[in-house]
Amino acid sequence: MKTKKSKKIVIDCAECRDQSGCCSFGAWIDLEEAKKILERGIKGDFFHLEIDKEFPSGFKVGTSIEDERCVFLDNDGLCRVHKVDYSIKPITCKEFPYEGGKIAPIADVLCSVHKDRVKKLKGRRRK
Ligand code: SF4
Ligand code: SF4
Repeated sequence: MKTKKSKKIVIDCAECRDQSGCCSFGAWIDLEEAKKILERGIKGDFFHLEIDKEFPSGFKVGTSIEDERCVFLDNDGLCRVHKVDYSIKPITCKEFPYEGGKIAPIADVLCSVHKDRVKKLKGRRRK
């Protein structure tokens, strides 16, 4: 018996025209990642340390937000951590809009490409 396979949604950030849009509210990152960023002296800071077993160290911190933007977002709309050293860019940020191999729930709010697709799909279903 044939079963219906759901099509995997693929989003390529390299083709996105709103690459800073998803940095509006910062990101939750592992405490050890934050330490590496601070050690490199990259301009920006963190807030709210919290226990979270989902993160490798068992702790997460949020990147601070200023004027509804992550403080690590540079004036040119690019991530300062990415520019200095991609290898220390937080995993959460590298993976977004995915989380654990699936589209992150918050992508409905933060990822313009995903939002457009959802809108188009809903439009098709109505026809
Ligand atoms: S996550 Fe979405 S909004 Fe962010 S760069 Fe990728 S496609 Fe663009
Ligand atoms: S650390 Fe960089 S990629 Fe992550 S939310 Fe901040 S600006 Fe965006």
